[in-house]
Amino acid sequence: MKTYNIPIFVPHSGCPFDCVFCNQRRITGKVASTSPRDAKRIIEEHLASIMNTELGGECTRDTKIEAAFFGGSFTGIPMDEQTRLLAAAYEYVKAGKIDGIRLSTRPDYIDRQILDNLKKYGVTTIELGVQSMDDEVLIKSGRGHTADDVRRAAALIKEYGFTLGLQMMTGLPGDTDAGAVNTAREIIALQPAIVRIYPTLTIKDTRLEDMYTSGGYTPQTVEGAVNLCKTLLLMFEAENIKVIRLGLQSTDEICENGSVIAGPVHSAFGELVENEIYYDIISSVIGDLRDTAVTIAVNDRSVSKAVGNKRRNIVKFKNERNIDLKIKGDKNINGREARLLCC
Ligand code: SF4
Repeated sequence: MKTYNIPIFVPHSGCPFDCVFCNQRRITGKVASTSPRDAKRIIEEHLASIMNTELGGECTRDTKIEAAFFGGSFTGIPMDEQTRLLAAAYEYVKAGKIDGIRLSTRPDYIDRQILDNLKKYGVTTIELGVQSMDDEVLIKSGRGHTADDVRRAAALIKEYGFTLGLQMMTGLPGDTDAGAVNTAREIIALQPAIVRIYPTLTIKDTRLEDMYTSGGYTPQTVEGAVNLCKTLLLMFEAENIKVIRLGLQSTDEICENGSVIAGPVHSAFGELVENEIYYDIISSVIGDLRDTAVTIAVNDRSVSKAVGNKRRNIVKFKNERNIDLKIKGDKNINGREARLLCC
């Protein structure tokens, strides 16, 4: 089934928190709030575009369209404002034009009153910005909530029957690779349906920028973040938890117009993670071979992942083992399997 999200940005201006990676203070007052009329206009525009350009004028059974309120703290805005925005989007749910509403928020902005209201207006999916399950890391990152808040909110969201999404970050102040792996373990225990993983980027005009420039914070490298995210992705996949975003875009909660000063920024971050997974798979298939030519078959839709961004896997095997690697597509191969054809 093809899923379309209609993104409606709801800035949380006046947010009382002070996450070290967020530059919201810089733009507070410069971003207009989103009105119900804005929300309707955005939905109409996207519906027209989805229908005309994507679906050739016809909605199919295999299509799921949802309005997605993002901005990080939807349920932190005043209740009457939440309700007006939800009611605007819910009109399209009732009319059968969209299938539901999803939103992202903080774990400490979840309680029964809030969830009752979201249920009333056709919300299907709630994503929580977890970031870490280590309280020390949460304190150092200025998050203002605890790991217990996440556990409590996740359980409540599931009790109400919403689809649960959890977002985590890597490379936060005080965090380590082992700490991120532990966060992933804790997230798996909460049984979300979907996960997003965001390596921390140091954005201009944030507290993290000050920590970085004064030497108090060391950002992840691209390679370090790719290797860690490879481990995390495989952990979630092993538990049938779908990772719907890996790296690059600023988190929903990071206001959009910051510029990146440091950190693992790469325009194809998620692809690099897949490339590394294929590098490991091909390595295990070719064993100790060196100084030869090797042809490997993979699923025909995964050839570019196996070859790698800018042919990185081809280059790596050549440089590390003097192997001339060729990758072929085979539609009879499923998943991430790789087969040695000849050498
Ligand atoms: S990330 Fe979200 S909760 Fe944290 S300061 Fe920014 S807007 Fe507030």
